[in-house]
Amino acid sequence: MRRYDLHCHSTASDGLLSPAAVVARAAQRGVDVLALTDHDEVGGLAEARAAAADAGIEFVCGTELSVSWEAHTIHVVGLRIDPDEPTLGDGLAAIRAGRATRARRIADSLAAAGIGGAYEGAMRYVTSERLISRTHFARWLVEAGHVRQVKDVFKRYLSPGKPGYVRHEWASLTDAVGWIHAAGGKAVIAHPGRYKVTPTGMRRLLTDFRAAGGDAIEVLSSAHTTAQFAEYATYARLFELAGSCGSDWHGPGESWLDLGDLPALPAGVVPVWHDW
Ligand code: AMP
Ligand code: MN
Ligand code: MN
Ligand code: MN
Repeated sequence: MRRYDLHCHSTASDGLLSPAAVVARAAQRGVDVLALTDHDEVGGLAEARAAAADAGIEFVCGTELSVSWEAHTIHVVGLRIDPDEPTLGDGLAAIRAGRATRARRIADSLAAAGIGGAYEGAMRYVTSERLISRTHFARWLVEAGHVRQVKDVFKRYLSPGKPGYVRHEWASLTDAVGWIHAAGGKAVIAHPGRYKVTPTGMRRLLTDFRAAGGDAIEVLSSAHTTAQFAEYATYARLFELAGSCGSDWHGPGESWLDLGDLPALPAGVVPVWHDW
């Protein structure tokens, strides 16, 4: 069985390793087909593609778009995109511009809760001048001693209702899927188990995603429990979406699954790579 990992991050967004180092680690861990999917960014793909050629593994150009759907932030992964396609490129640049202004507001919100210097602190963790994310704030909050571990940061800060969370309008679902298709890619709902929606809300999301032309759903993800692997396999079959799998790996010690640590897709799910 070929080992696929179609979701991970590098220093081009909020990962800890360079694109080349992510590819080298994946190859060493036995991944046969790897997609790099940095948030709202394609800037790491050229380096990763060259490293994959050197390492002798198959490489898939990807990205992970931030989307606002109803009151929720949803992530949509694009796979096998053309990184030079301008419609997608312009869309991603617009999302990244929104991140810069949001970061200032996150810092203001933390300051109002008594935590000063967060913008400058987060900037010390930023690894690409093109992109700042909540992850960079999270790593700084740990270093500054406001929380013990990165996994507790989002429970106390940076998530809805907590200090450091600000509402933000990302791309629309229709635009995101359209940009991915314009760039020749497949659109995949990332880590559906992470969204705080009711079962009815999940069906509405998948209905809207299908109506927008969406192609697949991530069945296997480090954001999912093994019970959720089965749950989202059922959704995939029900909504006639293909299934994808990705570790969503960001760096050593930051998640329970490492690169390539995924089982086979459950039976009856059509893999997103079936016609690659
Ligand atoms: P942003 O896109 O800037 O809102 O940041 C979202 C990123 O924060 C995600 O891609 C994850 O890397 C990280 N993140 C969000 N929620 C959590 C969580 N509960 N635990 C760990 N990391 C999280
Ligand atoms: Mn991330
Ligand atoms: Mn995500
Ligand atoms: Mn991700």
